[in-house]
Amino acid sequence: MKEELSKQILNTVKQFIKTDVAPVVKNLEDKDIYPNELADKMAELGLFGINISQEHGGLGLNYTTLAQIFTELSRGWMSLAGILGTHTLACYMIQNYGTDNQKKVYLPKLATGEMRAGLGLTESHSGSDVQNIKTFAKKKSEGYEINGSKMFITNGSQGNLFILISKTNLNSDPKYKGISCFIIEGTDKGFSVGQKLDKLGYRGVDTCELLFEDCEIPLTRLLGEVEGNGFRQVMDGLETGRINVAARSVGVAKEALKLSIDYSRKRETFDKPIKDHQMIQSMIATMATKIKAAELLVNDAAELKDNGLRVDLESGMAKLFASEICQEVCLDAMRIHGGYGYTKDLPIERFYRDSPLMIIGEGTNEIMKLLIAKRVYETNF
Ligand SMILES: Cc1cc2nc3c(=O)[nH]c(=O)nc-3n(C[C@H](O)[C@H](O)[C@H](O)COP(=O)(O)OP(=O)(O)OC[C@H]3O[C@@H](n4cnc5c(N)ncnc54)[C@H](O)[C@@H]3O)c2cc1C
Repeated sequence: MKEELSKQILNTVKQFIKTDVAPVVKNLEDKDIYPNELADKMAELGLFGINISQEHGGLGLNYTTLAQIFTELSRGWMSLAGILGTHTLACYMIQNYGTDNQKKVYLPKLATGEMRAGLGLTESHSGSDVQNIKTFAKKKSEGYEINGSKMFITNGSQGNLFILISKTNLNSDPKYKGISCFIIEGTDKGFSVGQKLDKLGYRGVDTCELLFEDCEIPLTRLLGEVEGNGFRQVMDGLETGRINVAARSVGVAKEALKLSIDYSRKRETFDKPIKDHQMIQSMIATMATKIKAAELLVNDAAELKDNGLRVDLESGMAKLFASEICQEVCLDAMRIHGGYGYTKDLPIERFYRDSPLMIIGEGTNEIMKLLIAKRVYETNF
């Protein structure tokens, strides 16, 4: 039954990319316009509820299907995967760590897209160094008062719910025990959205600063209603986020390869299609092999997650490998397209601009290597 639903959704997403996204993506990208109509259509298709249980109004799909959906969306426009990326991560965190009441109140609205979520982790002075965040939630008799700011927050201006990672104890030892997660609503007093960032790629989707000035929220907004669990909760959430970033990388790389194959059949030099030059064949063979390997790593991490296992090692490897090969494949696609690949007339330059984000986002690849090495030593692989 669920397999049938997964197939159906994947076909719907492919059709959506063809009929709704392809005709408008260039204009939205060039002008850095938020794709309101496309986001609403994704809500209509149920995509905001991909990983929310059916009990709470979502599709309840597994991570294998979620990864495939992110791959297909990214073949069309990686920014669309951005709208759903931290949204699904926030849904995961509420579903797995929220109280029954938090699940009841938020998950049905997140599933329909009435509420659209983001993740507030990074601060201007600390991205990789999560334990040194400064945002502080002070417990008062009737709630928390939050002060601080967050940087680079996807869906910052378009979202209306955020999972905020904040300190609740400034002196805890170890530091991570003083971190908690909160549910912030867009209308909370003292919460506002700051500057929207102008970016190399990942255009259309908003990336903003979030500001908290004596922001007041009730006690019931502490995720799980127990302080000090936030670091563990967000690290677990990021394992799923890394599957989605790896899947996006596979999508961008696949589309760059497809366009390269098509182009190499049509473009002629020295009286033959360039596909008949062995150096082009070498690039195509290497690109395809890298993509296949990346896809296998993504599927492996997703399948383990679907079986309820810890996947920090596997999702880290998938994210590291898939994002690195994505950038290499996009550059090779540009080489194959020659001068035309460097122009704005073809989407290759967009893939080339989008690919570095996967290297940086959801933990940089340097941090991925630290994490992988730690787990390799712990497990002896
Ligand atoms: C477009 C975009 C969207 C984003 N969306 C979100 C979002 O929705 N929510 C959110 O919370 N964040 C978001 N981020 C932030 C992103 O997760 C961070 O940028 C990333 O984690 C890196 O943090 P940083 O930029 O502070 O770099 P830094 O942590 O300052 O790192 C700088 C460099 O030092 C390296 N480095 C750092 N520490 C070590 C170490 N111990 N060993 C070796 N090398 C190290 C890094 O790998 C990097 O090369 C987004 C970023 C971008 C660009």
